[in-house]
Amino acid sequence: MKSSAQVVVIGGGVVGASVLYHLTELGWTDVVLVERKELTAGSTWHAAGGMHTLNGDPNVAKLQQYTVGLYREIEQRSGQNCGIHMNGGLTLAGDRERMDWLRMAQARGRYLGMDMEIISAAEAKQMFPLLEEQYFIGALFDRAEGHVDPTGVTRAYAACARQAGAEIYQRTWVSDLRQRPDGTWDVSTDAGEIHAEHIVNAGGLWAREVGRMIGLELPVLAMEHMYLITEDMAEVAEYNAATGHELPMGMDFDGELYIRQEGGGMLLGTYEQACVPWSPRQTPWTFDQQLLTPDLDRIAPSLEVAFKHYPALASAGIKNVINGPFTFAPDGNPLVGPVPGVRNCWVACAVMAGFSQGGGVGLTLAHWMVDGDPGEDIWAMDVARFGTWASLAYTNAKVRENYSRRFRITFPNEELPAGRPLHTTPVYDRLTAHNAVWGASFGLEHPLWFQRPGEEPREDVTFRRSNAFGVVADECTAVRERVGLTECSNFAKYRVTGAGSADWLQRLFTNRLPRVGRINLTAALDPDGHIVGEFSVARAGADDFFLFGSQIAEAHHSRWFLGHLADGVRFDVLALSLAGLSLAGPGARDVLQSVTGVSLATEDYPFMTFRRIDVGMIPARVGRMTYTGDLGYEIWVAPEYQRALFDLLWQAGQPYGIGLFGFRALMSLRMEKMFGTWAREYRPVYTPVQARMHRSLKLDHDFIGRAAVEEEMARGPARTLGYFDITPDPAEPADVAGDEPIWHDGKVVGWITSGAYAHYSRRSLAFGYVPTELAVPGAMFEVEIIGQRRPARLLSEPVLDPAGQRMRA
Ligand SMILES: Cc1cc2nc3c(=O)[nH]c(=O)nc-3n(C[C@H](O)[C@H](O)[C@H](O)COP(=O)(O)OP(=O)(O)OC[C@H]3O[C@@H](n4cnc5c(N)ncnc54)[C@H](O)[C@@H]3O)c2cc1C
Repeated sequence: MKSSAQVVVIGGGVVGASVLYHLTELGWTDVVLVERKELTAGSTWHAAGGMHTLNGDPNVAKLQQYTVGLYREIEQRSGQNCGIHMNGGLTLAGDRERMDWLRMAQARGRYLGMDMEIISAAEAKQMFPLLEEQYFIGALFDRAEGHVDPTGVTRAYAACARQAGAEIYQRTWVSDLRQRPDGTWDVSTDAGEIHAEHIVNAGGLWAREVGRMIGLELPVLAMEHMYLITEDMAEVAEYNAATGHELPMGMDFDGELYIRQEGGGMLLGTYEQACVPWSPRQTPWTFDQQLLTPDLDRIAPSLEVAFKHYPALASAGIKNVINGPFTFAPDGNPLVGPVPGVRNCWVACAVMAGFSQGGGVGLTLAHWMVDGDPGEDIWAMDVARFGTWASLAYTNAKVRENYSRRFRITFPNEELPAGRPLHTTPVYDRLTAHNAVWGASFGLEHPLWFQRPGEEPREDVTFRRSNAFGVVADECTAVRERVGLTECSNFAKYRVTGAGSADWLQRLFTNRLPRVGRINLTAALDPDGHIVGEFSVARAGADDFFLFGSQIAEAHHSRWFLGHLADGVRFDVLALSLAGLSLAGPGARDVLQSVTGVSLATEDYPFMTFRRIDVGMIPARVGRMTYTGDLGYEIWVAPEYQRALFDLLWQAGQPYGIGLFGFRALMSLRMEKMFGTWAREYRPVYTPVQARMHRSLKLDHDFIGRAAVEEEMARGPARTLGYFDITPDPAEPADVAGDEPIWHDGKVVGWITSGAYAHYSRRSLAFGYVPTELAVPGAMFEVEIIGQRRPARLLSEPVLDPAGQRMRA
C-alpha cells in the first residue's frame, strides 16, 4: 500500500469508483481508493440498476443524461461488461396533475436536448402490454432509460481508473482521519497509514460514520427499500418474441412503484408510504453485503395497485424479494463538494440513484477538486445547501417524507411539512396571530402571505394560480399605495471587521465599496468570471461591513468567503443574531419618522443610506432600501427587540393604512421592478455580463474574475438575461414556475429562470436567458407553460417606475 497519495477516496461503491475514474480522467493519477470489503459491498451490489434522465431539477437531469451516456464508453475502455439494457422508459400518469407534471418535465428537457415524447394511454399499452389502460391517461416516453449491472458498472469505473494509474485497496478499513496543520490528512487504515492531500468521503451507507471521524454530522440517512422479481412469465416471453426486444421500464405514479423486465420475469420496486429508516443513528461496521428481512405486508398497498395496473403480475410466482438499505439527504439530492470549514475534505454521498447520478457526481466533484470549480450547475447537489440545523432528527423526518413522496408531485407553491417549524424568529407568534401562511427555507420559517381574518391559513397546491392570488394582490396594493410591513430576517447576514477588511472585500467584489453610511449592490465572481454570489454591502465604518445575501446560500457563501479570508480580517455569519422587519411603500417614511427622532427626509437620509439609529427605544441599523423597489427601509435589530419593534411599527402604521405582506407579494413586487434573484437569475453558471449586472460592475479596481469579464465584454456575451411580458391562457391562466423552455421561430432557444404575476401592474412577467442576438427589445418569443406555448414579449425596462423614482422619493 502507498504511504502517500494526492487523494484518498473512501468507499468503493459506484460513487467512489466514479470519483476515482473522473479524477484520473482529469489528470490526477496519484489517487487511491480504499474499500473496507469488496467493491460494491454497501448499497451498490443489490441495486436494481435502473437509470433515467428525468429529474425535477434540469441541472440534475443534465448530469443524469451524462451518466447514462457514459456506460458504453467505460464498458469499451475497460472490457468489463456493464450489462447495459437501453429499453427506454415510460412514466405513467393517471390524472391531470400528473399529466401536467409530465408535460412540464418534457418541456424542461427540451433545452437540455432531451428527446422525450408525450404519448396516449393506448400508445403506452402498445409499448407495455402488461398494463391495464383504464388506469392511465397518458405517459412520457424517454428513450434514454434502461438498466445496467451495478457490479459491472462499478468494476468498469475501477478498471478504467486503474489503467490510468489509480490504486484500489480492498479489504482495507479507514478507521480514523486526522488533519495536519498544513491541511493535509493522515488516513489510518487497518493495513497502515496513508498521508493524503485530499480525502473524499464516498462512504455510502457509512458516509455519516466517516464524517463523524472528523466531528461532522452529515445530513444523510439510509432507508430500507424493497423490490421483488417474479418467475418467468409467458406474457413477457410473448412480448420478447413478437418485438425482438425487452419491455421498456415503467414508472407508475399512482402505484408509487417502478417496474421493468428482469430476465424472463418482471422486477417491481416500491416507495411505500409506511417507509422505514435503517440504522437511524449508527451504521454497524459489521454489515457486509447483507440484505434485510423483506416485509411484504409493508408494501401490500403498492402491490395491490400493481396487481390492478398490471394484472398478469397477480398470477406470477415471486422468485425473489430483495430488501436493502440505501441513503438519502433531506431533499433526496446527493451531497457533493467541499465540506464547509474543513480544508481538503470532500464528500460524494447520499446518492440515492447511483446509476442515474453516479457519473455526474464523479464528474463534477473531480472538476471541483482539480479546477476549483464543478464546471456544471450543481447548486441542487452542493453539500453546503444544508446548515448545521440539518440535525440527525431533522434529517430523519425529512428523508422519510421525501421517500414516501418519491412518486408524488411537489407543486411549485407547495411547502412540505416535515421537520417544521424548526427555526422561528421572535415575531413568529405575532405573525401567526395575523393568519400568516408559512413557508420554510434553510430551516427558517418565513411568512408567504397573510390569509384574511376568519379564513383558514392554507394554500391550495397547484401549477396554476392558487387561493392566495387575490389576497397577495391586496398585499401588493397596500405596499404600492400605502405602506406594507414584512419580516426580512430570511436574508443571510454577515459582518466583516478588522484591519484590512476594506482591501479584502474590494478584491472580492465587482462594485467599488460604498462610502461609510452607504449601501450598494455587488457581485462576487470566480476566476472565470462566473457569479459566485450577489450581495448588498452596507458600510458601517472604514473596516466594518454588513453583507446581506441569499439565505439559502448562507453555508455556500460563507464557505467561499472563509476560503478566501485574509490575515487580520474577521468574517462572521450573523444568522439569527440579527432579525429584521421591513417597511415599504409611499407611507413608509411617515410611519418610521413617527417613531424616530432622526430626520428621514431624503436630503438627510437618502436612498441607500445605512445608519445606526434608535427606533422608539430600540437600537437599530436601518438601511433605506427594499427589494420591493418602493420607498422603504430594512430595520435590523438584535432578536430580543424584534417583537417590540413589530408592535411599535404596527401601531404607528395604523393611521397610514399599514398592511402586512409576505414573500409571495415580495416576489411579485420585485418582478415588476425587474430585480433578479440568487439561485434563479444569478447562479454560478452565469456571468454578470450575461445577467446584465452592469450597475454592479466597476472596472476601476482589480477583482477576482475581472479579466474574464473584460474579455466577455469585448467579445459580447453568448446569452443574455431577458425580461418577458407573457400573455397567459385566458381560459386557465398560469404563470411560469421556472425552467420552462423559451421558443423562437419554432425552436427552443432558452429557458426561464423565474417569474411571477405582477399584481400591481397586472402582468405575468418572467426572466430567462436567450441568445444575445435575439435579445432585442420588443422581440416576440413563446414560453411553454404546462404544455402550452404562450406569447412573450421581451421588455427593455421595468414595467413599473423604470426611472426608480419611487425608491428615491
Ligand atoms: C434495493 C435497492 C434497489 C436500488 N435500485 C436502484 C436503481 O434501480 N437505480 C439506482 O440508480 N439506484 C438504485 N439503488 C440505490 C443505489 O444502490 C445507490 O444509489 C448506490 O449504490 C450508492 O452508491 P455509493 O457508492 O454511494 O454507496 P455504497 O454502495 O454504500 O458504497 C459505499 C462503500 O464505502 C465503503 N466504506 C464505507 N466506509 C468505509 C471506510 N471507513 N473504509 C473503507 N471503506 C468504507 C463501503 O464498504 C461501501 O462499499 C437501489 C438501492 C437499493 C437498496
